Amino acid sequence: MIKLRVIATGGTIDKVYFDAASSYDVGEPQVLPLFTEANVGFSYEVESVVRKDSLAMTDEDRALIRARVMAAAESMIVVTHGTDTMTETADALQGIPDKTIVLTGAMQPARFRSSDAFFNLGCAVAAVQLAAPGVYIAMNGQVFPAHRARKNRERGRFEFADPQPEAGHE
Ligand code: ASP
Repeated sequence: MIKLRVIATGGTIDKVYFDAASSYDVGEPQVLPLFTEANVGFSYEVESVVRKDSLAMTDEDRALIRARVMAAAESMIVVTHGTDTMTETADALQGIPDKTIVLTGAMQPARFRSSDAFFNLGCAVAAVQLAAPGVYIAMNGQVFPAHRARKNRERGRFEFADPQPEAGHE
């Protein structure tokens, strides 16, 4: 049976909002209820490594995430992460041999009724099973080689940083 490891690192996907002042906490990894809701057929481990808004992530946090990915027995790794510095953590994960690593997250918390979390996580789970070893970002319905992705804040989505015509892909 296919086995994945999910490394949860926080970000908006896992946020819990408290009141009108918009104070929040980064809560339990939301991947567990989402996988349960989807009745997934693969087996998985979920490991919570960091619980932060990714704007607060440090080099030490990224070194820890890299160490946990390297220590994983699984070759298919999904990393849930805040969108603001997802590309920086992706950079920190380059060069790990024999693993397909897919980072994903959400612009709206998974706990919100209307959220991109479910869709993005589903894309990441599909990508991690199909892509060659390397580091990818799965966001907004596209799977990017991580070094080619960037967040477009005005549009509220990820896009190719270096648009190049690729037949059938762009
Ligand atoms: N500031 C958040 C973060 O990067 C934004 C998000 O996750 O969409 O953690």
